[in-house]
Amino acid sequence: MTLHRGDRGPEVADLQRRLKARGYDLATDGVYGPGTDAAVRLFQRAHELGVDGVAGPATRAALEGVAHPTPAASSGAGPRLEFLERPCAADCLRLRSGSIDRVVVHGTDGTFEGTGAHFATIGRSPATATHYTIARDGRIARHAPEAAALNHAAGVNSRSIGIEHEIRLTPWRGRTHFPLADYPEAMLAASAALVREVCARHDIPMDRTHIVGHSEVPGATHVDPGPGWDWASYMARLGGGSQPGSGSV
Ligand SMILES: [Zn+2]
Repeated sequence: MTLHRGDRGPEVADLQRRLKARGYDLATDGVYGPGTDAAVRLFQRAHELGVDGVAGPATRAALEGVAHPTPAASSGAGPRLEFLERPCAADCLRLRSGSIDRVVVHGTDGTFEGTGAHFATIGRSPATATHYTIARDGRIARHAPEAAALNHAAGVNSRSIGIEHEIRLTPWRGRTHFPLADYPEAMLAASAALVREVCARHDIPMDRTHIVGHSEVPGATHVDPGPGWDWASYMARLGGGSQPGSGSV
C-alpha cells in the first residue's frame, strides 16, 4: 500500500514509528504531514531510492526490511544528495596544495546547528571547520567547497575532506568523550551516501587507509568519532573493505 501526504491512520503511524526507530525526527501521530514527507525524503535519499516523499512499495520494503541495506558499490548514478548551506567563516578557508585522497570522520560532541554556528564564527583561533556535518536525522550541512583545504585534522588537512557527525553521549552529559555515544541509523546512512559520492568524485579508494577517524590520523590528540564507531559495518555500507588498503601513501 502506498502512503502519501494527506493520508492518516494506523498505517501512517506504523510508517512513522519505523522512521523514528531509524533516527528520523518526526511525530508518530498517524498524520502524513510535512514532517513525515521530509523524513521519507531523507530516508529515500540515504537509501538511493527515488526521492518523492511518497512511501511506495520500494520505500516501505527498505524500511521494513533488513536494518542496513547495503547499496551497490558502483559509482555512476549515485544518490542525489541535498545540502543545507552553512558556510564556515572565510578565515577557515585555506588553499589546497595537493589532490584529495583522504576522508576524515569526526564527531561533534555538540549539536548539528551549534557546530554550523561555531564554524561560521569569524576570528576564532584556531579557525577550524570541516566540509560537512551530518545530523542525527540524516540532514547534511555543507560548510565549504571541497576545493578548499580546512583546518580539521593536523597533518592531513591539505589532502582530506572532513565530515563531522552529530554524536552525543547516551545519556547526553555535555562535553566529555565518546565511549557511550550512539550512532543513529539515519546519520550513518547519510554519511555513507556522502562518502561514496566524495570518493567517486575524487577517485579515492574506499578502504581503511583512505577513510579514517580523526583519532587515527598520525599524531592526533582527538578521540572522535569514538571507540563505539563500528568501522566494520560502516565500511560494509560503503561497499569497501575493512582492511587498510595498499594505498600509495
Ligand atoms: Zn575531529
